Amino acid sequence: MSAEEGIARAKEYFDAILEHIPAGVAILDGRDFRYAHINRYLADINGLSIAEHLGKTIAEVLPEAAQHIVPRLQRVLDTGQTAGSAEFGARLPGNPDEIRYFLDRFFPILGSDGKPRAVGAVVVDITERKRAEAANAAHASEARFRAMLEWAPDAMVLADRSGRILLVNTQTEKLFGYDREELIGQTVEKLIPDRFCPGHIDHRTSYVAAPHPRPMGAGKELFARRKDGREFPVEISLSPLAAHGETVVISAIRDVTERKKLEVARAQAEEDARRRFEELTHATRVSAMGELTASLAHEIRQPLTAILSNAQAAQRFLSAENPDLNELREILADIIKDNKRAGEVIQRVRALVGKAVPEKTEVLNLNQVISDVLPLMRSNALIKGVKIVTEFASYLPSVRGDRTQLQQVILNLLLNGTEAMKICPPGACTLVVRTARHGLESVIVSVQDCGTGVIEESLEQLFTAFYTTKVDGMGMGLSIARSIVELHDGHILASNNPDRGATFSFVLPVLD
Ligand code: ADP
Repeated sequence: MSAEEGIARAKEYFDAILEHIPAGVAILDGRDFRYAHINRYLADINGLSIAEHLGKTIAEVLPEAAQHIVPRLQRVLDTGQTAGSAEFGARLPGNPDEIRYFLDRFFPILGSDGKPRAVGAVVVDITERKRAEAANAAHASEARFRAMLEWAPDAMVLADRSGRILLVNTQTEKLFGYDREELIGQTVEKLIPDRFCPGHIDHRTSYVAAPHPRPMGAGKELFARRKDGREFPVEISLSPLAAHGETVVISAIRDVTERKKLEVARAQAEEDARRRFEELTHATRVSAMGELTASLAHEIRQPLTAILSNAQAAQRFLSAENPDLNELREILADIIKDNKRAGEVIQRVRALVGKAVPEKTEVLNLNQVISDVLPLMRSNALIKGVKIVTEFASYLPSVRGDRTQLQQVILNLLLNGTEAMKICPPGACTLVVRTARHGLESVIVSVQDCGTGVIEESLEQLFTAFYTTKVDGMGMGLSIARSIVELHDGHILASNNPDRGATFSFVLPVLD
């Protein structure tokens, strides 16, 4: 075989190899990289015939891929160095809807002058490998997701848009008593008491229409149902999750039975404490009224005596020959007036010592509250020679509070003041009750006496329970007064007057 024949044979072999190797091969000529040669494999990848490539620039044939390739081709041409493998993805003319991935390698082809004049390209289609990698990654992240669900402290239920359960964790099996096979494919209503199902279907339909993370049924008591039919209270939070182009909803479900029990126990304890406080305030009110009994009896006896003498007078008038009817009318009017007076005293006492009224707040004017208490003190003050003087602010803002409880505080301060003035010489016992604004947001009520005053060292202890300096004292009055005032967001204080006696005051916030 001649040398020429040998070369021709070698070229044939070489062409056959190029035609059959599972890689794309091309020679790109000149600075604009025109296809001088391309094998079928690469032409097929590009989706064009060999003839459609030859003589055209790479930018004309592969507009998208050229953006990645041309800069590297230029470097090979400029430096004469082989360009190492690089991966890229691009849409090709034969299949513009799909991105395919390639690994390429470019090398210089030198001219007779030793300078690069063309670039050779070897391209391998790695799309399948890339897809397998992506599938593996998806698989791994799904496995991680499942593991994460298992680690979650709550029962986790993953459902599709139509509420069909796709995935549950072990906590769900434990909480609801189902095996996961019994749940997967069922709708989430399987976990809900029947009576809530219709409403729930509506809720979940509107949730998937505008999904966002949120707690479910805010402000409502939610219940779930176990396989054995037992219901239990739950707290549920919902999160939407985009998976494979579809929105799925993850529900984290927490059994709150224990917490609810604690809440009930706490509410019960608070209720018990409130009742005990009511009982105590009631007991001390009754005891304060006990102190007033003698004077209250006097207060009622007075109008009763007047009624009796008026009635007797009326009888006498009637036995006369020509009774003066006008006179009789006046007598009857007096009887009615006295009856009303006695009735009012009884009414006030009943309001204070009636049953232990549950806490109720109303808008109150403290001038009025004090005025309602004063008639109860009138006889007591008279008997003890105490003059009660009021100095009321003319425009006193209202407060919100429990009328009976605040009356109790005032009554207690008045009784204590009267008691402290036992030592005063007759005619010098004055108890001044004042109301005033206190800053912009409070009002103050003070009761000033001119009695014994308080031992300075005891000022701190006065308001603690069982502190008393009286032989028959209970030491509860001021401590209860303080509790009541503090329950009204106020405070109570005592101080000695510069000259004689003490002043007890309490401050309450006014209504907005
Ligand atoms: P009690 O009247 O049963 O003793 P309180 O709690 O009402 O219970 O009063 C506690 C103590 O505070 C009284 O024993 C007395 O020593 C003192 N105290 C209360 N008010 C006055 C007052 N206006 N002047 C002097 N001391 C007072």
